[in-house]
Amino acid sequence: MNYQNSLQYAQQLDSEDPLSHLRQEFHIPKDQEGNEWLYFTGNSLGLQPKATQGYIQQELDDWANYGVEGHFEAKNPWMPYHEFLTENMANIVGAKPIEVVVMNTLTTNLHLLMVSFYQPTKTKYKIVIESDAFPSDRYAVQSQLDFHGFDSEEGLIEWKPREGEELLRIEDLEAILDKQGDEIALLLIGGVNYYTGQYLDIKKIAELGHANGCMVGIDLAHGAGNIQPNLHESGVDFAAWCTYKYLNSGPGSLSGLFVHEKHAHNKKLPRFSGWWNHNKETRFNMRQSFDVMPGAEGWQLSNPPILSMAAIKASLDLFAKVGMDALTEKSTKLTGYFEYLIDQIGSDHIKIITPANPKERGCQLSVQVKNADKSLHQKLTEKNVITDWREPDVIRCAPVPLYNSFEDVYKMVEILRNLLSDA
Ligand SMILES: *Cc1c(COP(=O)(O)O)cnc(C)c1O
Repeated sequence: MNYQNSLQYAQQLDSEDPLSHLRQEFHIPKDQEGNEWLYFTGNSLGLQPKATQGYIQQELDDWANYGVEGHFEAKNPWMPYHEFLTENMANIVGAKPIEVVVMNTLTTNLHLLMVSFYQPTKTKYKIVIESDAFPSDRYAVQSQLDFHGFDSEEGLIEWKPREGEELLRIEDLEAILDKQGDEIALLLIGGVNYYTGQYLDIKKIAELGHANGCMVGIDLAHGAGNIQPNLHESGVDFAAWCTYKYLNSGPGSLSGLFVHEKHAHNKKLPRFSGWWNHNKETRFNMRQSFDVMPGAEGWQLSNPPILSMAAIKASLDLFAKVGMDALTEKSTKLTGYFEYLIDQIGSDHIKIITPANPKERGCQLSVQVKNADKSLHQKLTEKNVITDWREPDVIRCAPVPLYNSFEDVYKMVEILRNLLSDA
């Protein structure tokens, strides 16, 4: 793309953007004078679709009108409610419906998945994570090591960037596996790293892990709704993601879970159970002995929170109308424009640590500002620019193709440029 550095050009890109109307489907937060925020934290909490309220109201009304009968009589009956989400969610992550379910929250699901897919032996028990893994994932795998009686320091292997680099290299994972593959039971990797925004080659990670007899799990918290991970084709054993980041389903909302079809009918996998992973046909003959459901549904425990699922349904219905292909196309252009404008600032103090190759990132750019401290983030906030600060010196910014505009990106970089030249 040959971009130009002007407001007029940004507005022109918006007028040519076939998805620009989608912004009106969202509540964009405003300051007290009514000016819209420049919201770049959809990677942390996605904005609220205007339709969400109606979806939740429907369930409140049905609860008011039907009480317990709503399980069958509600417009969207609560008994099978999670099934209304499955197909759209499966499309977002490139999975088959049997491979996907929405349930619990992300860290909980990582644990439930490790119950099944982390089966350490005395000699093959180590777990590989990225050195910059999200803290919750690190604590989760450490506690799994502890739980199985291993030393959580010694049993944890970090896949690190090289000295002086920020990004991970697949050949370094390969080297870890060549050397210690016999001792490694599980790879649990963030598909899109929350800090650098690097989108790793999930398929290659699965191949390397499987060649060494390891299980492979992917955390897609920063991937789902941002990039198309093609989970089925990638061959990874399992994955999980939250729905409140790019999937705009509200604070603390439920998690998506993927178990590859190759495990769908394996009743021997160890797992935790409750009434909701028992065969639906006989679930209410309460005295039946346990009969696990095939596929991802076979990891559920409880009947799910319908109000939270209603918010997910609102969001997924919107994603289904647009499709990941169109979103990815806009995302590539929007983030490309953002990158171009940051480069135009032309300061030695600024460096984008996210990969330059659009195929190795989603919409997020992590911008390192040397010698900056958190006051820069504070000044951005005072100018209505909402970003996310990570110590020591990185601003994470995610222009989201569903609701951010080229004009947002232009204005944001202008504000950043002015703050830096004042400093
Ligand atoms: C956001 C995020 C989480 C949060 O986990 P919850 O269980 O939803 O609180 C975990 N892991 C990663 C990689 C994340 O980005």
